[in-house]
Amino acid sequence: MVKEFIMDLVDALNFINKHGIPTARYWVVSKLGDLDKVKADLTFPLVVKISSREVVHKSDLGGVVTDIRTYDELKRTIKMLEERFSHVSDKKWLLQEMVRGDIELIAGGLRDEVFGPVVMFGLGGVFTEVYGDVTFRLTPLTIDDAYNMISSIKARVLLDGYRGIPPINKEKIVSILLKVSEIMSSYEEIKEIDINPIICKGDMVKAVDARIVLSKGY
Ligand code: ADP
Ligand code: MG
Repeated sequence: MVKEFIMDLVDALNFINKHGIPTARYWVVSKLGDLDKVKADLTFPLVVKISSREVVHKSDLGGVVTDIRTYDELKRTIKMLEERFSHVSDKKWLLQEMVRGDIELIAGGLRDEVFGPVVMFGLGGVFTEVYGDVTFRLTPLTIDDAYNMISSIKARVLLDGYRGIPPINKEKIVSILLKVSEIMSSYEEIKEIDINPIICKGDMVKAVDARIVLSKGY
């Protein structure tokens, strides 16, 4: 079996950000004691997440705390998380802008043994596994392919605007899908990339989680 390497959350978000995929604002601290250094910059509400190569499914392990409203609450949360994850050695804390959206989407890329690099798109968040409402296309993805992916999932009705929910900016989703395709073509060593969720509301489209699996160390 080929050994796998995984980026931690901070590296994965920095990577997609660098490649032009919009992310929610974030700050990083390695320990509670460093919080003072970013204090002046912070805006609330915030979400705190563990960033570690050892913790992949963060919320399953209690590594995501949402809707933190004050600096005191933030301090208490990080203290609690440091105890909960005391066994994890490479951890950092990602403090992330809390984003309120209408829909959560997933975009990703993987290397199929037969088809080669493919791009994936669908309904994200906790519903990804429940509904399996995802679609795949070969790379390199064209603009038409990307629009086609959007219109081929069942949740497309939600993207078109639904019962008072404004339509989602599809150009922004298309741009993300094209960027994922470019990343899969440019970086042979990326085995898998998962951006889930991308939280959307009208024109606001922001990725809040990314997982990148590599076939070699970095
Ligand atoms: P994981 O997938 O590893 O459990 P996520 O970072 O995806 O961790 O967080 C789990 C869920 O928490 C997301 O699917 C989303 O519903 C919610 N969430 C995460 N980050 C934010 C954020 N910045 N704003 C609002 N909700 C968030
Ligand atoms: Mg996630």
